Amino acid sequence: MSTRHVWRLARRPAGSIVTDDFRFGSEPIPELCDGEFLLRVRYLSLDPAQRVFIGDQEQFLPPVELGAPMFGLVVGVVEKSRKEGIAVGTLLSGAGEWADYIVSDGTGFTELPTFPGISLAATFGTFSLVGPTAYFGLLDIADPQPGETLVVSAAAGGVGQIVGQIGKLKGCRVIGIPGGPEKCAFVTEQLGFDACIDYKSVNVGDALDHLAPEGVDIYFEQVGGPIRNAVMERMKMFGRVSVCGMISEYNVTHADTQPSYWWAIMMRRLTVRGFIFDDYRARFPEAEKNLAAWMQSGQLTTRQDIRQGLENALSSLQDLYSGRNFGKLLLEVTP
Ligand code: NAP
Repeated sequence: MSTRHVWRLARRPAGSIVTDDFRFGSEPIPELCDGEFLLRVRYLSLDPAQRVFIGDQEQFLPPVELGAPMFGLVVGVVEKSRKEGIAVGTLLSGAGEWADYIVSDGTGFTELPTFPGISLAATFGTFSLVGPTAYFGLLDIADPQPGETLVVSAAAGGVGQIVGQIGKLKGCRVIGIPGGPEKCAFVTEQLGFDACIDYKSVNVGDALDHLAPEGVDIYFEQVGGPIRNAVMERMKMFGRVSVCGMISEYNVTHADTQPSYWWAIMMRRLTVRGFIFDDYRARFPEAEKNLAAWMQSGQLTTRQDIRQGLENALSSLQDLYSGRNFGKLLLEVTP
């Protein structure tokens, strides 16, 4: 293997991402230096925040530089190694590139834990990002109590499906807000949520007035915009809002389309309370242990939406911003 395929950032998008914002091509793989290894990427994680990483708004990591390979979480197999302690065949995951082969010195990579009965895609898809995000964002930030009403937006997605199920395990009454009847059926019939609001066909505020006339104890916020506003207006006294994301606003360029304080709630970790999953890195083993146990006992289901082929990375990413993914979006880069 002497060449690799890679996506590079050509320019910062204005609004929604378009094809010309990236360049996809092949290039020689550099010779390994001492202390480096060559990783063959099995799966690439596609995540809403990748729109943030290529923009120039306030963010929690340095943005991707123009001309640089696009950044993404990956899991792969070491094919060659000149790094002590990293053997050929080792499965590593971490901060990588949109590429089929990556040369790395190991910075940002760890061995992916393995769990009996859980596939590689489910392990990578759950434990690298969305699982810890759901686990700490709900349990640590919102402290759900039995009998409380929990509302979660983007409910059928990577994070949302796990948040709702943990809420049920903690005795909450869970109302999901996904888009479309198929996703509604999935969260109520397969995941056990108590109720669903299909925001694409009904008015969210009216539906909440009907389903939760006394108000909402916990809102797990992932989408921003009118859905957020409808839920926020119906929070109970002493309610908690876990600000995980606001995907409807990632492609927006007009400053006046969101309340000026809202972005800062997530990025500056203000009260009512924003968080970034990486804040909890030291406690990931706790999340892994509990999430894996729930998965292995059948109490937690995680759905992956797996696409094929590195050339489809960009079109797959675009699907996140219109809800054309169904579950945690992954790309199988090599078999
Ligand atoms: P996901 O939910 O699997 O996919 C994104 C979903 O967002 C889409 O499937 C779509 O679902 C929904 N969506 C897209 N545009 C929308 C709009 N205009 N209005 C309402 N809903 C819209 O993605 P995920 O990876 O689990 O991430 C979910 C959220 O969590 C994102 O905001 C992400 O940035 C955030 N996040 C935050 C952290 C953190 O550390 N704070 C970590 C991971 C993820 P529907 O079909 O239901 O509309």
